[in-house]
Amino acid sequence: MRRVLLVATTTGYQIRSFGEAAEKLGVRLVFASDRCGRLEDPWWDGAIPVRFHEEARSVDAVVSACGGAPPDGIVAVGDRPAVLAARLARAFGLPGHPPEATATSRNKLATRRALQAAGLPTPWFVSRPIEGEVDDLAVRVEYPAVIKPLALSGSRGVVRVDNATELVSAFDRLRRLLRRRDVRLERDEAHEQALVEGFVSGTEYAVEGLLNHGTLQLLAILDKPDPLNGPFFEETIYRTPSVAPLELQQHIAAATTAAAAAIGLHHGPVHAECRISGEAVYVLEVAARPIGGLCSRALRFRSGGLQIRSENPEASEGAGAVVSLEEVLLRHALGEDVSLYMREQAASGVMMIPIPKRGVYRRVDGVDEAKHVAGIEDVRITAKPDTMLVPLPEGKSYLGFIFARAAKPCGVDRALRDAHARLRFVIDREVAVAPV
Ligand code: ADP
Ligand code: CA
Repeated sequence: MRRVLLVATTTGYQIRSFGEAAEKLGVRLVFASDRCGRLEDPWWDGAIPVRFHEEARSVDAVVSACGGAPPDGIVAVGDRPAVLAARLARAFGLPGHPPEATATSRNKLATRRALQAAGLPTPWFVSRPIEGEVDDLAVRVEYPAVIKPLALSGSRGVVRVDNATELVSAFDRLRRLLRRRDVRLERDEAHEQALVEGFVSGTEYAVEGLLNHGTLQLLAILDKPDPLNGPFFEETIYRTPSVAPLELQQHIAAATTAAAAAIGLHHGPVHAECRISGEAVYVLEVAARPIGGLCSRALRFRSGGLQIRSENPEASEGAGAVVSLEEVLLRHALGEDVSLYMREQAASGVMMIPIPKRGVYRRVDGVDEAKHVAGIEDVRITAKPDTMLVPLPEGKSYLGFIFARAAKPCGVDRALRDAHARLRFVIDREVAVAPV
């Protein structure tokens, strides 16, 4: 039986989806995770314990656990696992992203340097130790600017600042965030610095792709129809296919390819974000991993093939069974040619339900109503009752996700917004508990 190593920190939807794909393909998944022992999930039986901040030791642990027989492929879920997965691919002699490139892609300062060195559109940027000062910088730089951590995700800690006073206070706020326990536990040197860079105005797109020995297979361009102008950058709707003009879509694909090459990424999944400013496509980052968590459910594929599709679009919908993004990735990791997998024809989208305010989440009303909105496929509330909700820039979660499919992209938008409008979240004010 073929074995695929799955490197992950999370345990959610994407893991189960890989598990289902593996079952279907008759492949055994072997997990490597820092969460072993803390989970009852049956998927994790026999998982190999690793620590993402001890890469060399973790590589040794996995190699020896595999008992001299390299796996047939490696997949990773999450940013830190992607770095370890790349090292493991090299250790096992499997194709993958070079470890140096995954380390660059995970670090926003290193990414800026790589893109700039390659002559690609890049905002001005400067880094500062988080324990230092920015007062001198604040009076020198051009505004608007953006301040951000080097290695967090989900827009956590990313703030637009319009003047010196805002930069100084955002820097203090970022310092407090980077000193929080959950961040310090990552033991990542990158969390000792902040990046300040020029604000790139314009519309934003996400690109989901697969690099095949350096060649990009575009899986989807996702529009972000809600403007992201700050001061915080909460993602809401991702929608595909893109309604951008075809020529712009080609620019976006070309810019993603160029940025991935500049970073050194070579073989495996990539997820990029681009901003279009005037004629230029600014690639903000290219992650060496697929789109995260539940969002991947918005993407479904068929192995119809190009010819069938262009001759008869109706027939192409029936040409192959619908498969998940995870199945496509698993097949790719096993060395299969997946170039004929294309996203289904329907428009599809997901809304990451924003946290409207800080407080204690109690419940949500209207979920059934929202599920009955035409075009809505599912409403998943992921927030746990009676837990604290923390909005951006400190927060790192959403209230949940809404999924929609429609004939046209505008129908997806409408469905998502309509469903969201029917949800009524009950969030109580945080009450200080007196010490006993
Ligand atoms: P993360 O890894 O947390 O997603 P990003 O650097 O991608 O961090 O920033 C998150 C979001 O903040 C981006 O998707 C974008 O909307 C906004 N953003 C970040 N940097 C800039 C910038 N220089 N100009 C304009 N918007 C930006
Ligand atoms: Ca990002």
